[in-house]
Amino acid sequence: TINSSKQAIALEDKYGAHNYHPLPVVLSKGEGVFLWDVEGKKYYDFLSAYSAVNQGHCHPRIKNALVEQAGTLTLTSRAFHNDVLGPFEKYITEYFGFDKVLPMNTGAEGVETAIKIARKWGYEVKGVDENKATIVVAENNFHGRTSTIISFSSDENARKNFGPYTPGFIKIPYDNIKALEEALEEENVVAFLVEPIQGEAGVYTPADDYLRKVSEVCKSKNVLFIADEIQTGIARTGSLLAVCGNCTCEGHCEKQDTYTKPDMLILGKAISGGFYPVSAVLADDHIMNVIRPGQHGSTFGGNPLGAKVAMTALEVVRDEKLALNARKLGKLFRIRMQKLVDTYKILKLVRGKGLLNAVVVNDTEKGSTAWDMCIALKDNGLLAKPTHGNIIRFAPPLVMTEEQLHECCDIIEKVVREF
Ligand code: PLP
Repeated sequence: TINSSKQAIALEDKYGAHNYHPLPVVLSKGEGVFLWDVEGKKYYDFLSAYSAVNQGHCHPRIKNALVEQAGTLTLTSRAFHNDVLGPFEKYITEYFGFDKVLPMNTGAEGVETAIKIARKWGYEVKGVDENKATIVVAENNFHGRTSTIISFSSDENARKNFGPYTPGFIKIPYDNIKALEEALEEENVVAFLVEPIQGEAGVYTPADDYLRKVSEVCKSKNVLFIADEIQTGIARTGSLLAVCGNCTCEGHCEKQDTYTKPDMLILGKAISGGFYPVSAVLADDHIMNVIRPGQHGSTFGGNPLGAKVAMTALEVVRDEKLALNARKLGKLFRIRMQKLVDTYKILKLVRGKGLLNAVVVNDTEKGSTAWDMCIALKDNGLLAKPTHGNIIRFAPPLVMTEEQLHECCDIIEKVVREF
């Protein structure tokens, strides 16, 4: 058993691959917006496992669903039917307003799935010549870590020496409609894959009408608009999905003035409230029907345990009005942070939507001020992590109260004042 943080870190260092650079804190318990380390120190979580625990840590309703299903049936594989998959598929497709879903496990698998569907659609429906299908992506994207996905990454650290790379992708600047229009002049383009807000890149929010224009341009060129909402979805940005725009309803609706329906929607992370890896690709029949038996799948994809957990996690989002809370608290958070930006030179700016926000620290990208600031935040009882050197992402669980949010802002203010 582990008695100290030092001991746990030493074990990871010796026996684990060094593929992450975590903050030096060893967590052993979570509840709602709080985490505890092995020494018993309590923290506010301001990362939510990269937006996977929007519902808060160890949500009792999701836990009960998991425990109950774990004692009933966990995995059958798709060689047979199971009695939870159908209800889950009905639930999630109605929840998000699509004809069909293809369930997988991790986010990267969801993205791979969307890529495969888009290519097949390109050949079989659009009529692109075999092996010529091209997918347009945005610069500075983050869609996961598989060899195909890193093939179109702009991050040298993620790419270097992992080649040869998968061909068939074109990169264009993010939030740039003209660049998209030009790229879609190429006749073999089958899809545009994009994050509605670029999370890993540092919470880059595009122009308000970007997604609507993306959809229009794609439609006019018979190109699929694929929204990767693995990080932005499930109420994180203050509406059910980022493609819902400023829509204030809790569930799925199709208000023409705010909602931009993508041709394919990729979800992951918080779809299971942090209990179990579940991802999903949603699309309508005329796209999803290109996939026939034997052409795609996964041993665990669509298993009853994950399906039950995901259904319950989505119920929690709706019942607890998490989108509304994210919207309300997000506004407060940015007001408080803007005051700090205006007062302290060490902060450059704050940006974001709902409870997906980032503060840019006045430092070079290679500098260590943001890291040092996160260490100081940790010492003061708040856990956040830098992304891209000088950017700190702030993304607490969406079950936070207004009072707790103000307490967190006080902690951030105290730390910023000391830098
Ligand atoms: N797509 C986006 C937008 C993400 O933010 C992430 C993870 O951070 C992924 C895909 C990859 O998900 P996973 O780590 O579950 O493979």
